Amino acid sequence: MTVHSGGCHCGNIRLSFSTALDPAGLEIRACQCSFCTRHGSRAAADPNGRLVVSVEDKERLQVYRFGLRTADYLVCRECGVYVAAISGEGDDARAIVIVNALDDRERFSREPVPVRYDAETREQRLARRRAAWMPVEIRGT
Ligand SMILES: [Zn+2]
Repeated sequence: MTVHSGGCHCGNIRLSFSTALDPAGLEIRACQCSFCTRHGSRAAADPNGRLVVSVEDKERLQVYRFGLRTADYLVCRECGVYVAAISGEGDDARAIVIVNALDDRERFSREPVPVRYDAETREQRLARRRAAWMPVEIRGT
């Protein structure tokens, strides 16, 4: 496993993305929803990997929900950077990481695949994330 570190701009939220996959081969998804397009998000996940999100000051962590409200979009209140999205709770929590928030973002070099999930039901959405997103742990909240 390689650990790719990163976080928001001010340092309040830190990311550790562990994966055995080559970042240059990892699929990058550009979600076309109205939130992600505004951020120009490039997202990735390795279902066999792991994401650790460490928050120094939870008062400066914005957890944003919209649409079907089935995921938490983690945005730093201090610097405005969108770092990750999390769906589910406890051991069932799964995440994507925003590769632009990683220090070695250039290594995630595949052309982003535009994806649209507008037509999904709530159940389809949760099932897709369980399969495609990765285990996650949040520390410090
Ligand atoms: Zn920040």
